[in-house]
Amino acid sequence: MYSFVCILNSARPLSTTATRRDISDLVPTPITHYSEVETAMQEAVQKFANDVILPKVRDMDEAETMDPSVVEQLFEQGLMGIEIPEEYGGAGMNFTSAIVGIEELARVDPSVSVMVDVHNTLVNTAVLKWGSAALKKKYLPKLATSTVGSFCLSEPVSGSDAFALATKAVETEHGYKISGSKMWITNSMEAEFFIVFANLAPEKGYRGITAFVVDKGMKGFEIAKKEKKLGIKASSTCVLNFDDVEVPKENLLGEVGHGYKYAIALLNEGRIGIGAQMTGLALGAWENAVRYVWNDRKQFGQLVGEFQGMQHQIAQSYVEISAARALVYNAARKKEAGEDFVRDAAMAKLYASQVAGRVSSLAVEWMGGMGFVREGLAEKFFRDSKIGAIYEGTSNIQ
Ligand SMILES: Cc1cc2nc3c(=O)[nH]c(=O)nc-3n(C[C@H](O)[C@H](O)[C@H](O)COP(=O)(O)OP(=O)(O)OC[C@H]3O[C@@H](n4cnc5c(N)ncnc54)[C@H](O)[C@@H]3O)c2cc1C
Repeated sequence: MYSFVCILNSARPLSTTATRRDISDLVPTPITHYSEVETAMQEAVQKFANDVILPKVRDMDEAETMDPSVVEQLFEQGLMGIEIPEEYGGAGMNFTSAIVGIEELARVDPSVSVMVDVHNTLVNTAVLKWGSAALKKKYLPKLATSTVGSFCLSEPVSGSDAFALATKAVETEHGYKISGSKMWITNSMEAEFFIVFANLAPEKGYRGITAFVVDKGMKGFEIAKKEKKLGIKASSTCVLNFDDVEVPKENLLGEVGHGYKYAIALLNEGRIGIGAQMTGLALGAWENAVRYVWNDRKQFGQLVGEFQGMQHQIAQSYVEISAARALVYNAARKKEAGEDFVRDAAMAKLYASQVAGRVSSLAVEWMGGMGFVREGLAEKFFRDSKIGAIYEGTSNIQ
């Protein structure tokens, strides 16, 4: 019913083939204007998020679990294969459409949003960019329709210093053997497909880092622990162990020793997604609180949202959200145009996470006691906002 499969024919898969192109004759349009395809994405995801996800948000947060039916429906909606070409069963849409979807989901639930974000901007992109023809043929149809993916870089000893990773790979007769541990891995309870970074030549330092595809069923793979968290509780975050996991030769992703380049490139792109998650979150928190103060809560004989002291804060917050959205969409458009977007992506994530923190905190205050209790969503948006300054490069590091 909400599916945007009907608009696939007009979709343009720009980002997976993005190279610098001549854009000098393009007529500039406002950064946050959507194309027809992006508008359809926004409308479809907004309806889906409100009708299907919203009724489950509070329960999923309390249970610290993603409802399996939500995951199923994300696949049904085409939201897990946004940029995967149609020939592999994906939606064949552009990068900005993915950003629109991630933002709209976060407006209702940042946990669902990060599942879609990691799966699309990190996992699918890695396979599309560097997967062999055989890997693409084997995995892309599954990633588009049924199999959740995880991106495994961080470790107990390496977070910000990501390339100090200690997970090792050795070459064997039939492929590679991976041993080590990964930490804080998003989607890992639901995932069956893991992109794992391991060092195949530690004597070469970071130039030995290589990317591999690990299937959940492989011997020696174990989910060691599921973390309990401050926010985005429905999103799974786990410690993974790799005890001499044997991966076949064909599960090498890209070239030996190029893993560090892939990780940097993916995280640069991924930061635009986290920026979108944070602007969606800020907008969701703002709307939730404004609805209450403008419609429900009266004090001193009038709606509390009518006090000018409140209106200054509400207006200032909306200005900040709009500025953050401009940074996010500018970064996305520059990436699609084949421009250098690295600094833009970092600015977008940095500022959007700051705005999400500020606005969601104020939104709790605007709702008074009702903002603080776990009945509504105000306190959840506030808790969820903290992660924006931490993952995919902390605010200090990126
Ligand atoms: C919920 C969640 C989901 C995650 N999902 C994934 C995932 O799917 N895949 C994955 O690979 N990883 C994931 N991560 C890991 C995440 O990317 C790391 O937590 C992050 O990169 C920070 O690393 P760290 O936690 O080791 O912090 P540290 O690197 O220990 O940093 C601690 C503090 O020191 C500061 N700091 C460190 N070095 C410097 C420096 N040189 N200059 C200034 N300040 C510095 C940092 O900014 C930070 O404030 C996830 C983490 C969380 C919490």
